[in-house]
Amino acid sequence: MSQRPTAPLDLLDLDSALSEEERQIRAVVRQLVDDRVRPHVAGWYENGEVPARELAREFGKLGLLGMHLTGYGCAGASAVAYGLACLELEAGDSGLRSLVSVQGSLAMYAIWRYGSEEQKQRWLPSMATGEAIGCFGLTEPDHGSDPASMATRACRDGDDWVLTGGKMWITNAPVADVGVIWARTDDGVRGFAVPMDSPGVSAREIRHKMSLRASVTGEIVLDDVRLPADALLPDAVGLKAPLSCLTEARHGIVWGALGAARDCLETALAYAGTRTQFGRPLAGFQLTQAKLADMAVELQKGYLLALHLGRLTDAGRLRPEQVSVGKLNNVREALAIARQCRTILGANGISGEYPVMRHANNLESVLTYEGTSEIHQLVIGQKLTGINAFA
Ligand SMILES: Cc1cc2nc3c(=O)[nH]c(=O)nc-3n(C[C@H](O)[C@H](O)[C@H](O)COP(=O)(O)OP(=O)(O)OC[C@H]3O[C@@H](n4cnc5c(N)ncnc54)[C@H](O)[C@@H]3O)c2cc1C
Repeated sequence: MSQRPTAPLDLLDLDSALSEEERQIRAVVRQLVDDRVRPHVAGWYENGEVPARELAREFGKLGLLGMHLTGYGCAGASAVAYGLACLELEAGDSGLRSLVSVQGSLAMYAIWRYGSEEQKQRWLPSMATGEAIGCFGLTEPDHGSDPASMATRACRDGDDWVLTGGKMWITNAPVADVGVIWARTDDGVRGFAVPMDSPGVSAREIRHKMSLRASVTGEIVLDDVRLPADALLPDAVGLKAPLSCLTEARHGIVWGALGAARDCLETALAYAGTRTQFGRPLAGFQLTQAKLADMAVELQKGYLLALHLGRLTDAGRLRPEQVSVGKLNNVREALAIARQCRTILGANGISGEYPVMRHANNLESVLTYEGTSEIHQLVIGQKLTGINAFA
């Protein structure tokens, strides 16, 4: 097990708020990240190549895929345990947490929550082991924050469905076996479990990303894709279905972003302790200590928020606007921490030899996906004022 202490960052002794089982799950994931991710992740990021299939199988072995779901080979862990796993994965890299979030909270959750028994039996056990990879196609080239205006269509042709359109910025798409694809029908938005090798489906990898480079992102083209009637997720009716999946995934992000921030702060703390200027370590300057103190306080506040939302989820009482509070705050603060840590490392802060710039760049994507900060502000604003200011 990893012996790296949580202290001194755990100023408030928040570890004591976790159960023994939650601490054990966290330790196992931390060890996996130390052994399997940290030695390689800088290279994956630099080359824009990640062994997604191999990692999915390793994550599956540990029960991390669909970890908070029950049955069908899923671990049935608590939301807090799942959150802690996300935190540890994202301390490695946001791209790996994205792989796990999209698989478990978006693709598997959609099938688990809205699929037929046959669809669940067909996909979930192999997705839980990482043998099959899933993706979740909601965003389109011309429709991001406003998925209600999506252009992808699904039309009936006899018993079959025919899908036409395209999805953009889809995590895991180029390596996926199944895509949960959302499309407009005569009865509103519906979801489909689409085998990615169906004739007419193609998934091109999006290159030249400056963020989330250790994650596979793709564009899906749906060119008259003919699907049998049983590809339709029977219980997913209307836009509230994909939005409920996003609420699931956002919970993982609330926790995960803290992992990236913690890794930056640990790095900056260690660096400031050993780097000497003007005859003393950087950590001995009052301005550096002010930065470190402010960041540690924000990290602890974010953790308290995540823990509260996790406990609400486990009690079945989480409301979507509460997840918006968590996603807005924790990603925004994690990004601020990553940028501040970069200043402490000076020129070394921009080097791939240290993880800080990589985390900062990754968090730019995390700020945008699963609802941008502005969209979460609007969700909270609507709750406060009763006025919908989206359009
Ligand atoms: C690396 C990566 C992976 C992703 N993975 C997935 C995935 O797996 N599946 C998937 O479906 N999508 C995925 N996305 C897409 C992501 O969810 C969208 O990028 C996001 O929803 C924003 O949409 P957009 O990029 O089209 O921006 P737009 O919607 O065009 O927004 C641009 C800017 O305008 C602002 N804006 C928009 N509307 C309003 C408004 N009403 N009021 C105020 N400001 C507004 C936004 O906040 C933003 O700042 C991914 C994105 C990235 C970067």
